[in-house]
Amino acid sequence: MSESAAVELRLQPGRHKRARAGHPWIFSNEIDMTAAAKALPPGTIAAFREAGGAPLGAGFFNPHSLIAGRLMTRDAAPVDRALIERRVNAALALRTRLFEAPFYRLIHSEADGLPGLIVDRYGDVAVVEINAAGMERMTEDILAALDAAIAPKAVLLKNDGPARAQEGLPSEVAWRGEAPTGPIEIVENGVRFLADLAGGQKTGWFYDHRANRALTARFAKAGARGGRVLDLFSYLGGFGIQAAAAGASHVVMVDRSQPALDLAARAAALNGVAERCSFTRAYAFDVMESYAVGGERFDVVIADPPAFVKSRKDLAAGARGYRKMVRLAAPLVAPGGILFAASCSHHVDAAMFADEVRHGLADARRDGRILFAGGAGPDHPVHPFLPESAYLKFQLLQLD
Ligand code: SAH
Repeated sequence: MSESAAVELRLQPGRHKRARAGHPWIFSNEIDMTAAAKALPPGTIAAFREAGGAPLGAGFFNPHSLIAGRLMTRDAAPVDRALIERRVNAALALRTRLFEAPFYRLIHSEADGLPGLIVDRYGDVAVVEINAAGMERMTEDILAALDAAIAPKAVLLKNDGPARAQEGLPSEVAWRGEAPTGPIEIVENGVRFLADLAGGQKTGWFYDHRANRALTARFAKAGARGGRVLDLFSYLGGFGIQAAAAGASHVVMVDRSQPALDLAARAAALNGVAERCSFTRAYAFDVMESYAVGGERFDVVIADPPAFVKSRKDLAAGARGYRKMVRLAAPLVAPGGILFAASCSHHVDAAMFADEVRHGLADARRDGRILFAGGAGPDHPVHPFLPESAYLKFQLLQLD
C-alpha cells in the first residue's frame, strides 16, 4: 500500500465540489474532523475522500490550519520522493524552455504541483522557502530532488516567512552545502546584479519583474537622448540599473535600506554605468514630496513598493497607499514620460489596483494612457483555481 493511502480522511457531505472541480485546497470546515483526524500531526500525508467514499486525491493534512488539505495528486500516485522529483523535473524543464541562464524561480508552489514550496535558483545556489507543514516534512526529499535536478553547490533554507506561523512552523534560516562567503552574482536580461541571499528581502532577489524591467528599460532613452529615471523602492537596482544599461542619462535609486543601496552601487560599477547612477537612502514618499516642491521631472518614474496590504483587515487603508503613491509620483513624470507602478499585495486584485492608479492620476490631475498592464513572469505561474496567487500587478503608463 502506498504511503498516501495510509491515512484516509473524509469530507463533510456535499463539501467536495470545489476540490472535485480542480481546486487544490480543502478547508478545515469541509473535512469530517473526527477526534482521530484532529490528533494527526501537522503535515500528515493523507488520502481524501468524498463523504460517500469516492476518492478525491492525496496530499498534506494539517488539522490546525484553515487550509487543512493541500492536494498533490488526483490519482493513486503516492506522495513521496519520486513524486517530488517528477514535479521538480517538470518545473525545471519549463524554466529551461523559458530562460537561457540558470537564474529564475524554479518552483512556484501549487502552480508547479508543489504546495507550500518556493525555490529560487541563482546559478549553482538555490534558495528554498517552505510554507506548509507537509512540505516541511519532505525537506530531505526536496533537497534530494534538487540535487538530482540541478546539483546546487549550496542551498539556503530561508524558512522565515510570515505564513509559517499559521502552519505551526518555526522561523529558521540555514545553509546546506558550501555557503557563499559574500553576495552572489545574478544575471538578468544581460545585466549583472549582486544579492545577499540570507540577509536580503525574501529569497534575495525578485525574479517576478524580469520582463517588466526589460519593458521599462525600453523607455530609458527619451528620443535620441538618454532619459532621466527615478527608481523608487529600488532594492538592488533591478529596474534602475537595467534602465542605465539601456541608455538612461541618469538614474536615481531610492530605498530606505543602505545595505540594498550598497549592493546596487556595486552592481552599477560591475555594469560600467556607475557614473550615471546615484543612490539615495530615504523614504520614498518623502523624496517624492521634496522633488515635487523642487520641480524635478523625470522621463521614467518607477514605483515598485513593498506590499502595502499585509492582511485583509488592512485592505482599505493599504489600497489607498497605492493611490497616494501614484498621486505623488505622477507630478514627477515629465509630459510624455512614463510611470511604472506596481503592487505585490495578494489582497489587492488587478481591478482594485487599476482603480487606485486611476484615482491617483485624477488627484494629480494628469491624463495618460496604459501601455502595458500585467503581473509576474512565467516562472511565477498561477494555478487556475488560485487566481489570488497572482499577487503581482503593474501598469506602465505614458502621462501627458
Ligand atoms: N523594486 C525592487 C523591489 C522592491 S522591494 C526590485 O525591482 O527588485 C521593496 C523595497 O522597498 C525594499 O528594498 C525596502 O527596503 C524598500 N522600502 C520599504 N519601504 C520603503 C520606504 N518607505 N521608502 C523607501 N524604500 C522603502
